[in-house]
Amino acid sequence: MTVQSGVRVAVAGAGAFGSAVALRLARGGADVTVFDPAPPGQNASGVAAGMLAPVSEALFDPASRDHLDVMRRARDLWPAFADSLGIALGLAGVRIQGSDAWRGEVEAKLRDLGVPVTDHITEDWRIDALGSLAAMRAAAENAGAAFEQAEVTGFAPGALDLADGRTLAFDVLVLATGPGARGGRLAPETAALAPVKGQILRATPLQTEETVVRGEGVYMAPGELLAIGATMEADRDDLTPDAEATSTLRAAAKALRPDMNLDDARVDVGVRATTPDGLPLVGWSRAPGVLLAVGARRNGWLFAPLVADMAAAYLNGDNLGPDAAAMDARRFEEPET
Ligand SMILES: Cc1cc2nc3c(=O)[nH]c(=O)nc-3n(C[C@H](O)[C@H](O)[C@H](O)COP(=O)(O)OP(=O)(O)OC[C@H]3O[C@@H](n4cnc5c(N)ncnc54)[C@H](O)[C@@H]3O)c2cc1C
Repeated sequence: MTVQSGVRVAVAGAGAFGSAVALRLARGGADVTVFDPAPPGQNASGVAAGMLAPVSEALFDPASRDHLDVMRRARDLWPAFADSLGIALGLAGVRIQGSDAWRGEVEAKLRDLGVPVTDHITEDWRIDALGSLAAMRAAAENAGAAFEQAEVTGFAPGALDLADGRTLAFDVLVLATGPGARGGRLAPETAALAPVKGQILRATPLQTEETVVRGEGVYMAPGELLAIGATMEADRDDLTPDAEATSTLRAAAKALRPDMNLDDARVDVGVRATTPDGLPLVGWSRAPGVLLAVGARRNGWLFAPLVADMAAAYLNGDNLGPDAAAMDARRFEEPET
């Protein structure tokens, strides 16, 4: 797929969405520059546990319950995407561990979802989030994309404004700012976004584990450090670690791994942006020339390749695929009277 030649595309945001979109467009031959005021990885994408987990999300996140099919389609794009970047996919799956009563509840939910009842979900996968962000950036740069540390403050076709006072010539702005540009300043549709603060602990694992473990109120995702997550703090967008919010997480982790020492665990904090229905906003804004790729909630990594393909299809006027209506960027607009 090629992007109309000569179109100058600015991407605001170098998280999972912005990086995947930039990569996709640069590989298609577009002239792409990514702007982000934060250093690489200092965003929700860099903090994330990296799970690509349609079934677990449908099980444990009420807002994702109705989105199993779209999440599975998004996951199915990952093997080719990861392969093209040399990213290792963790395919060991998710083990459900906990009391008999709780596992009984999980089994009932699996039945409701029409998923085979099991305590080892093999169709949920995992990647290393920080490493994948770096791999996407390197591949995008290889394909000709540029990255600049700068904040986008305004856009009209032909004129992109930056906080450092520059105005640059771009035809299209892809808004991939996560929770950063809410309230409609760059695109009115972002008024539908709300922040959800997430705190996640990182601790030395007791032993090498390949599978993600899901317990009651907690997950443990393997990696160099075990990622123990995560809080869901609605309407919070600060990055301050707070012991009270993580104490529940620590208690849930202790219930699963009583021998684990969490006293020295690092606390990482990220802010997700969510829409009212839990799916991202993808597509053209009412603001001329602005293409939205925001509102990833808990599934920015899972959705990144799908959103990148859709963004490219919007730009090219190609077939948008089966998930465009569900993710339509303007679906929360008030009908005009
Ligand atoms: C604790 C935690 C665990 C998670 N675990 C998982 C997981 O296991 N699997 C999964 O799929 N998802 C997970 N998520 C969710 C996932 O991290 C997010 O959905 C995803 O990272 C969102 O990506 P994004 O690119 O939309 O936004 P972000 O990663 O937030 O990136 C947005 C970028 O935009 C930049 N920006 C903001 N304003 C501007 C501006 N005006 N101009 C230019 N740049 C701007 C910011 O600096 C930032 O770098 C987790 C999130 C958290 C917090």
